[in-house]
Amino acid sequence: MSIPADKTQFKTVIVGGGIVGAGIFRDLVLNGVETLLVEAGDFSSQTSERSSKMLHGGIRYLENMDFPLVFEALHEKNLWLKLTPHLAKEVPFYLPVYSDAKRPLWMIRIGLYLYDFLSSFKNSPYSMKSKSQTLQDIIGLNPEGLTGAGVYFDGIMDDAKITLEVIYDALAEDHAYALNHTKVVNVRKINNKNTLTIKDQFTGVETNIIADQVVYALGPFTDIFLKQYDFYNWQDVLLPSKGSHIWISARDLPIAYPIVMTPQDEFGDRVIFVIPHGDKVLVGTTEVPNKDDLFHVTPTDEEINYLIKNLNSYFPKLDIKKEKIIGSFAGIRPLVREGNSAGDRGKTSREHKVFQPSSDTYVIAGGKYTTFRVMGREVTQKICHRFRVSYNRDKTETPLRRPSVIEPFEWRLPSEADLVHICETEMPKTFEDLVMRRLSISTRAIWKENTSVDFDEYFTKHQKTLSKYFHVSNENIKNFK
Ligand SMILES: Cc1cc2nc3c(=O)[nH]c(=O)nc-3n(C[C@H](O)[C@H](O)[C@H](O)COP(=O)(O)OP(=O)(O)OC[C@H]3O[C@@H](n4cnc5c(N)ncnc54)[C@H](O)[C@@H]3O)c2cc1C
Repeated sequence: MSIPADKTQFKTVIVGGGIVGAGIFRDLVLNGVETLLVEAGDFSSQTSERSSKMLHGGIRYLENMDFPLVFEALHEKNLWLKLTPHLAKEVPFYLPVYSDAKRPLWMIRIGLYLYDFLSSFKNSPYSMKSKSQTLQDIIGLNPEGLTGAGVYFDGIMDDAKITLEVIYDALAEDHAYALNHTKVVNVRKINNKNTLTIKDQFTGVETNIIADQVVYALGPFTDIFLKQYDFYNWQDVLLPSKGSHIWISARDLPIAYPIVMTPQDEFGDRVIFVIPHGDKVLVGTTEVPNKDDLFHVTPTDEEINYLIKNLNSYFPKLDIKKEKIIGSFAGIRPLVREGNSAGDRGKTSREHKVFQPSSDTYVIAGGKYTTFRVMGREVTQKICHRFRVSYNRDKTETPLRRPSVIEPFEWRLPSEADLVHICETEMPKTFEDLVMRRLSISTRAIWKENTSVDFDEYFTKHQKTLSKYFHVSNENIKNFK
């Protein structure tokens, strides 16, 4: 709903429009609490569009004995597979096992059984494959030393679109407001009330708003934001962990199912997923300390070499060179420090934490994309309690009501009428918002590849229409080639 010009006071303001902020927004407004969501860039333009795009229980967290987290994540995975079938789908993941592996096939079998057990057997059931079956299913996989594979089921999804649709669904309520490209640039307590200065990132216009309750869902930006304000007395809580991905064309890496690679090397004992998304394959991730500016993280050469090296050890005949990369991206996991994790990012739990730096302010950090709904619930319940609103947890177990025009797994460019509809209903404010988050995953990953689709021609044809909504120059269009 658009905000009336004279409205400057809100029951709750959420700062941060990634999946965590979006989830709390929906939960609050479905339970009747007036809420404004404020996001500095486009919704879901930071960590929440740079994940490995899996709805998953986290098979590798079984090793850390994180059973409650895996149980919760599996439940959420299976719920969202049901609620958003157009944005997520269940697929078999192949975990190839080699004779020198740390975990032999029998151990994998136990792990996969436990995984299905923790899902209350709602996962499609795991299976074990012989060497020959595995090689038949996964074309090009290295046969040397292969003993077989375990196959289990998880979800693949469009992370940006789920966040957007969670926000669109919330906006169906008339006490829900959301602003993208609007940054919170100052916070003060005036007469004991939270006064936030928000700045329109295009016009530079600043406005003061008052919030009875504030929620910070800032992901990796939590510490740098909160430390600016003495009254929060904030101490760092995050152990930021960078992860990078590359996209390869399915022509160069023609696999039918996702593969889990388990290298044991200088980066420690971790996993790399190789996941087909239509005509592209997503490969990642790494797990390293971050050295970049948090708003502009990119994969380093070292991380890219690491991913390519492992791809070639699993698929030696495909001889994948760096030149075959058609896109790449990096994000920061907002992990919450643990006393005993001693800075080991891989072993640090993916649990979330809620902090309360002042009586009317919550800060939420950590967690996983998959568990966003249950993460947010803790905060929503407390806010409902404070405002004496009865809380119904089942309200978020309903399908999203405003599906986006372009579904993530379809390969189609919108018609002129669709483009107009997207611009009018899906809140893109820039050309990048449109291309990166309102079209399909395939469109997003395609711009560096030679393709039969001429993007120049397509966008130039629609430039006049798009220019009614935001600035589109020839330069913009070329940048997405
Ligand atoms: C490499 C990688 C792979 C991952 N893979 C998976 C996976 O496959 N499955 C899974 O379940 N989880 C995965 N995760 C975890 C998951 O992506 C994150 O836990 C989740 O996206 C974090 O969401 P968030 O809303 O907390 O943060 P964000 O999405 O970063 O949102 C925080 C928002 O705050 C905004 N902001 C910052 N400052 C201001 C300000 N001053 N004013 C207004 N807004 C502001 C930012 O612009 C940002 O959009 C992965 C994470 C990474 C990094």
